[in-house]
Amino acid sequence: MSKLEKLTAVKGMNDVLPPESARWEWLESKVRALMERYAYRNIRTPIVEPTSLFVRGLGEVTDIVEKEMYSFEDRLNGEQLTLRPEATAGVVRAVAEHSMLYDGGKRLYYMGPMFRHERPQRGRYRQFHQIGAEALGFPGAELDAELILLANALWKELGLQNVRLELNSLGQPDERKAHRAALIGYLEHHTDALDEEARRRLHSNPLRILDTKNPAMQSIVEAAPRLIDFLGEASLSHFNAVKAILDANGVSWRVNPRLVRGMDYYNLTVFEFVTDQLGSQGTICGGGRYDYLVEQIGGKAAPAVGWALGVERVLELLKEQGGAIPPVCPDVYAVIPDMTTLPIAITTLERLRGHGVRVQMHGAPVSGEGMGSMKSQFKKADASGARYALVFGSDELARGVVLCKSLRDGSGMQTEHRLDSVSEWASALQFSR
Ligand code: ATP
Ligand code: MG
Repeated sequence: MSKLEKLTAVKGMNDVLPPESARWEWLESKVRALMERYAYRNIRTPIVEPTSLFVRGLGEVTDIVEKEMYSFEDRLNGEQLTLRPEATAGVVRAVAEHSMLYDGGKRLYYMGPMFRHERPQRGRYRQFHQIGAEALGFPGAELDAELILLANALWKELGLQNVRLELNSLGQPDERKAHRAALIGYLEHHTDALDEEARRRLHSNPLRILDTKNPAMQSIVEAAPRLIDFLGEASLSHFNAVKAILDANGVSWRVNPRLVRGMDYYNLTVFEFVTDQLGSQGTICGGGRYDYLVEQIGGKAAPAVGWALGVERVLELLKEQGGAIPPVCPDVYAVIPDMTTLPIAITTLERLRGHGVRVQMHGAPVSGEGMGSMKSQFKKADASGARYALVFGSDELARGVVLCKSLRDGSGMQTEHRLDSVSEWASALQFSR
C-alpha cells in the first residue's frame, strides 16, 4: 500500500505543543489574576461573525478589511461570514445585543485566536492570539489611564523589560475632518513622492498614509500636517488628563504624533506598547478610545476604550529576555513493576490526586508485554521531573505498603507509606507551590 501523504497545519497557523504550552498557560493565569485585581470580567464571543460586522466596525478602507480577512459563504444558507480578525467588534456587538450597559459601564477582557491573511514571518502569523481588555460605558480619561496602567502592570508581573509606551490623540471626528482636508491638500502637492498604495488611499484614508513603512516616503510624512495641531480644547484636556495620571503613577510615555492605528474606529487617546527587541514586529500591544463604535454597530451610543496584546509577541519578547517560567512537573511518578500490581496502583494514585498531588502513572510502551523494565521506568520517572517515584512492588503491596524513592536530592532516600492511610502522607509529596 502506498504511504499516505502527511497532513500539515495551514501555513501561518501554529500548533502550540508542550512544554511551550506551559508558557501560554502561565501567561494566561497571570492575566486572569491581574484582571481580577482591576475588576475586569471575562467575555467569550464567537470566532465566526457576520462579515458585515467587521466591514462596518473596522472601516472598509483598512488593511484588515481590504486584504486580511478570512471570509467565506456558509454553504448551507449563503450567509457571509468571517473568522474574527480582532475581537473588539465582536465584544461591542455582544454588549449591544445583550444591552449589557443598561445598568452602567462594564469592564471586560478576552483571550483567544484571531485570523488575518498576512505574510507569515517572525511575530506575524495567520492565526495568532490576542488578550484584550475593554471598558465600555465610561467617557472619562481615567479609564484610558486605567487600561494603560493595567497593561503596564502586566509587563511588570511578567518581568518584561524595555517596553515603551507611545501615545497620541486622534481627537474627535470634526477635528479629524479639518486635519484630513489639510492633509489631502498637502499630499496632493506631493503626489510624485507617494507610492501606489498611498495614492490609492489619498482620498479614502489619508491618515493611514502617515503610518507607512516605506522609507522613501518618510520625509514627506514627517513634514505633513499633524492631527494633534487640529485638536480643540476638550480633546487636548482629555489627552492631558491621561498623561497626568500616567505621570502621577510613574508610567513614562512619549507622544508619537504619527501613531494612527489600523482600525477606523478610534478617537481621542490611542497608544501602543513597543519594543526594539522583536525586529519590525515591535508592537506588542495597541489600543485606544472608540466612542463611536457601539452606535456604529447598531447599539445605543456609548463611549468605550480598550487594548489588545499579541500573545505570540509577548512570549517571544519574554524568551528574548531570558524570562524563566517555572516548569510544570508531576510530584510523583508511579513505577509499576508488573501488571498484577496495576489495579492497586491505580486506586492509590486516584486517592493521591484527590488530595491534590500531581501524579503521572507509567504507561506500558508496548501492548501485551508488561510495563517495561524497572530501568526504563526509572528513566521515564527522571525525565518527568517528578520529585518522587512511588514503586508499587508486589512484595511491598503484600505488606500493605508502597515504596517512595526520592529522585531529586541525590540521597536516594527511600521510605515506605501505608496504603490504608494515604491522607496522612499525601501532602508530604507535594512540591512546594
Ligand atoms: P501590526 O502593525 O504589527 O500589523 P496591528 O496594528 O495590525 O499590528 P492590532 O490590530 O492593533 O495590530 O492588534 C493588537 C496586537 O496584536 C498587535 O500589537 C500585535 O502584537 C498583535 N498582532 C496583530 N497582528 C498580528 C499577527 N498577524 N500575528 C501576530 N500578532 C499580531
Ligand atoms: Mg496589522
